[in-house]
Amino acid sequence: MINVEKLNKTFGDLHVLKDIDMTVKQSEVVCLIGASGSGKSTLLRCINFLELKDSGLVMIGGEKIEKETHDLNEVRVKVGMVFQHFNLFPHKTVLENVMEAPIYVKKCPKEEAKMEARALLKKVGLSDKEDVYPSKLSGGQKQRVAIARALAMKPEIMLFDEPTSALDPELVGEVLATMKELAEEGMTMVVVTHEMGFAREVADWAVYMHEGRIVEVGHPEQLFSNPKEERTKNFLDSVL
Ligand code: ATP
Ligand code: MG
Repeated sequence: MINVEKLNKTFGDLHVLKDIDMTVKQSEVVCLIGASGSGKSTLLRCINFLELKDSGLVMIGGEKIEKETHDLNEVRVKVGMVFQHFNLFPHKTVLENVMEAPIYVKKCPKEEAKMEARALLKKVGLSDKEDVYPSKLSGGQKQRVAIARALAMKPEIMLFDEPTSALDPELVGEVLATMKELAEEGMTMVVVTHEMGFAREVADWAVYMHEGRIVEVGHPEQLFSNPKEERTKNFLDSVL
């Protein structure tokens, strides 16, 4: 569960997040949409503490997280993140990429990490690629490895920042299918995406952000087909 209250974030003079309130309950899937620069990535990064808020509250699993009282690396274990660009380690095999964090961050025994990594690669449909280097993979395969790698830390929450927007169109489906499966298993997810089909099918609700504020929240069907706010409507007209 994620609670964000009155979250504000600035970069110098730029006020990027303005009084953001958002609660994501356990096993909910939320899609975040909005124009470039509206603050979507910054919001995700504040939720897993890659960026630190200026003011407001971020709670993970009911616990108020502050840099003064918490080891943010430990908190990040609970909140996995998948980026637009996969950031795999190029000099490690697929299996090694997935094993890396459990071994070095969680001090997991190597054999156990290997078994779990294999199970995760099976889950994302890449068992046959475990000894391959990332350069030999398609974009969709790389992104599925990145998802397996994030899952290897056994996160309670997964954040996805435009996970399919760098992919060729024919590779988008396989990544969305993996994410859908994760959602069906009950993972709590916040997904920045303009894949409206995915949002309609998988998300419990959707959020439209504009210039650092949450302008509208609704069921994806309602938000996309029948937005209440003029700004949401204008945005949807521009992307659909
Ligand atoms: P996009 O759809 O292009 O990914 P976004 O909604 O994810 O956009 P953010 O990346 O959150 O937008 O950026 C919001 C604003 O904050 C932008 O104006 C951006 O230039 C600025 N910004 C983001 N990160 C930093 C940073 N580290 N330093 C300074 N400004 C930043
Ligand atoms: Mg972004």
